Amino acid sequence: MDDLLKIDATEAARRVRERETSAEALTALVLEQAEKTEPRVGAYLRLDLEGAIAQAKAIDNAIGDGKQPGPLAGVPVAIKDNIHVEGQVTTCASKILGDFQAPYDATVVRRLREAGAIIVGKTNLDEFAMGSSCENSALQQTHNPWDIAHVPGGSSGGSAACVAAHSAFISLGSDTGGSIRLPASFCGVVGYKPSYGRVSRYGLVAFASSLDQVGPFARSVRDVALSLKVMGGRDPMDSTTPDREVPDYPSRLADNLKGKRVGVVRAYLDEMPNREVADAVSRAIDALKDLGAEIVDVELPHAEYGIAVYYVVASAEASSNLARFDAVRYGMRKPADSLIDMYMQTRGEGFGPEVKRRIMLGTYALSAGHYDEFYGRAGKVRTLIARDFEKAFEKCDLIAGPCAPFTAFKSGEKSDPLSMYLCDVFTIPASLAGLCALSLPVGFDGAGLPIGMHLQAPAYADGELLSAAHALEQQLKASVDRLPAIA
Ligand code: GLN
Repeated sequence: MDDLLKIDATEAARRVRERETSAEALTALVLEQAEKTEPRVGAYLRLDLEGAIAQAKAIDNAIGDGKQPGPLAGVPVAIKDNIHVEGQVTTCASKILGDFQAPYDATVVRRLREAGAIIVGKTNLDEFAMGSSCENSALQQTHNPWDIAHVPGGSSGGSAACVAAHSAFISLGSDTGGSIRLPASFCGVVGYKPSYGRVSRYGLVAFASSLDQVGPFARSVRDVALSLKVMGGRDPMDSTTPDREVPDYPSRLADNLKGKRVGVVRAYLDEMPNREVADAVSRAIDALKDLGAEIVDVELPHAEYGIAVYYVVASAEASSNLARFDAVRYGMRKPADSLIDMYMQTRGEGFGPEVKRRIMLGTYALSAGHYDEFYGRAGKVRTLIARDFEKAFEKCDLIAGPCAPFTAFKSGEKSDPLSMYLCDVFTIPASLAGLCALSLPVGFDGAGLPIGMHLQAPAYADGELLSAAHALEQQLKASVDRLPAIA
């Protein structure tokens, strides 16, 4: 692999700006890399070869004309296929959207472009972002670049896999209950779920609106910080984005953790069946201590109800959000004799089994006789989970632990829905509470599969979280500095 592909996006953009390389050369290299790795990885649903080169030429011309090309000048970026890129197909990895073309750029895509990024393609996901392995995609299978017999994690599996395979420098995913953090952990890249509202969702196809966030995958924490700075902030098109300053995250990254308190839920490590994951995460906690942090014990007594709460709340919101796919407005339409038959046939054929399961679960939870029993109750327990975090954050600045209970499992290994749902046991509580959270590679298991650490901080403490993650990343560099064989 060309050495130019091994640097991170921050450095790549610097080289493009200072004309040590060109956006076109960088983009061509990434596309070549994709050509090499895609037959085995399958991260992309579509690559925009001509469009990417044209965008790169435009950046090079702007630089040639002495214009300011932006902090992501010439950086090839991949976009999860539930986020709109104008004029391109958005499938959500579902058959129901057919060849629906996005009429506009999502705000995040527009902001990336304005910063000089090159949009190279759209990546695979679990259908409508529902899943933990990418196996629920109705279109394609994606494989883990570290071992192609294993899943990349989900739902943003394609976005994690392309960054790991070096066929993109940065990618975007969406995280509703763990869909950025879990695949980042399985693929050995950094994955970030910003605080709820930090990043606009305008142009993200809605799954569960009280939980959804767009966030980046990258190969370094400073690339995540840069992406967040570019994408974050108020967007009049998304009322959940507050008019709150977006700090200059990249310039505030620390190299130590002096004066910081890091909370650890001991039981998560002590009771973890997978000792390799527990040991790698414990070593990373020791590294946090070496950086000057004080480690304190915290408890999250209601977090164990997270999965139950999430599958009521997320399914209820999904059942409502997905009602718009009615064969009238978007994509696929099955001809039928009556309107009701058209709905039934289109939705019956267009949605895959997991999506149907969620719609049924959610519709039931919202139905007149059951609303209080399920949706109402789930909302109350959600508040208890958020209060647990508030209490824990009185004692610490961030919470560290495992991102997933295991490393990437084999394709086809988890066939029942419940075992798939359990993958997100550690990531869901932060989503329910609207926190910011990140997965950082901290080591490998005996089979050479990556292990991720989960770092969580209070809502809008994104800067603090990234700073701590950066310090830890620098400390651990030697132990995680490997490339997947496929790259
Ligand atoms: N795996 C979880 C689910 O299937 C989370 C997905 C997500 O964050 N989009 O719903």
